[in-house]
Amino acid sequence: MSAVLAPVTGCGDAPVLRERGQREVFCGLTGIIWLHRKIQDAFFLVVGSRTCAHLIQSAAGVMIFAEPRFATAIIDERDLAGLSDANDELDRVVGQLLARRPEIKLLFLVGSCPSEVIKLDLSRAAQRLSQTHMPQVRVLNYSGSGIETTFTQGEDACLASLVPIMPRASAGRGKSLLVVGALAEVVEDQFTRLFAAMGIEHVAFMPPRRSIDLPAIGPDTRLLLAQPFLADTARALESRGAVRIAAPFPLGAEGTMLWLEAAAREFGIPNDRVVAATAPARERAERALAKFRAQLGGKTIFFFPDSQLELPLARFVARELGMTVLEAGTPYLHRQHLAEELALLPAETRLSEGQDVERQLDRCRAEKPDLVVCGLGLANPLEAEGISTKWSIELMFTPIQGFNQAQDLAELFARPLVRRLKLAV
Ligand code: SF4
Repeated sequence: MSAVLAPVTGCGDAPVLRERGQREVFCGLTGIIWLHRKIQDAFFLVVGSRTCAHLIQSAAGVMIFAEPRFATAIIDERDLAGLSDANDELDRVVGQLLARRPEIKLLFLVGSCPSEVIKLDLSRAAQRLSQTHMPQVRVLNYSGSGIETTFTQGEDACLASLVPIMPRASAGRGKSLLVVGALAEVVEDQFTRLFAAMGIEHVAFMPPRRSIDLPAIGPDTRLLLAQPFLADTARALESRGAVRIAAPFPLGAEGTMLWLEAAAREFGIPNDRVVAATAPARERAERALAKFRAQLGGKTIFFFPDSQLELPLARFVARELGMTVLEAGTPYLHRQHLAEELALLPAETRLSEGQDVERQLDRCRAEKPDLVVCGLGLANPLEAEGISTKWSIELMFTPIQGFNQAQDLAELFARPLVRRLKLAV
């Protein structure tokens, strides 16, 4: 039994509008907001400016109820009177932090884009600080810079920085599965149960909940990407011998089923076992989605490029909710990782890669979609023009993967339309 709901027409070879203009996106520091909750013994020290400190505090501050696991070491021109002074200052800040917070086992120095910070060699700083603080604390670095990146690339850079310290798996122990991409714990637990019911026992997740549980990798490791924005991480894991399982992403009942089926095929699990293990959860998800299909079917939607989740989301709303996708814009189109998604998208979907916000706004206004998915900066002006919007960043903060979350995912698209209908009454 296959999970495909509708004939596959596909966008695999469809032309793509390439946009290279003004961009309106958050920077990679944003990823700290979900990553710090995920890796519970890690600390994220942003080496940045006051702007970076404000971004992190205002975006994440509302969620702090205990001692936070992120902070900003502010570097300004004054600190660069001599670069060695800036390094001394960084060593001092890190020393103080680790003395006060003995539970920290992994410290990320997160680079940012101000020129003062770019001049600092954070990878050397991380090596130096690791030498000082190992074995209690390992220090890694990655960049969350907002130059030519989009906000989900912070997670990619963070996970890629973990790959070199993952232990080597000894050969001959049989295949193991590594699910890559930060997922809510509740989602991880659901997938663990489904994999076990299907007969896949050796499953690890990356990032792990505790940094000391980083799984071993090697040629027997099979990667299953849970997020579509992990190009660098996948490349780094593949260079350690791991092999990627090609699959769409686990959004919606169909996406989740195809994702699980791809893993099962790789592990030689018979399809009837997969169907039996997944049927109750899948059927519940399909029943829940049927209600939304009645509400959202035929409505038009336009995705601005922002989170890199756009193509899997476009596939979900088109195929499972019956919406018409006018444009699916993505900051980067990774043809290999998205090949299965492209094949499932309706052939008439207009694809765009990169951003030229004014031209995209012109196309959007001309088409008057029922719903626009975009960044925060565009949402307010579009709402003021009478166009319903959904913030794409909300889709990163909400658990949306897997069968049990399919309803919540559909609700995220339905809510702005329902709100506008109520306002119109
Ligand atoms: S990293 Fe760059 S874009 Fe992000 S808050 Fe700091 S200065 Fe702004």
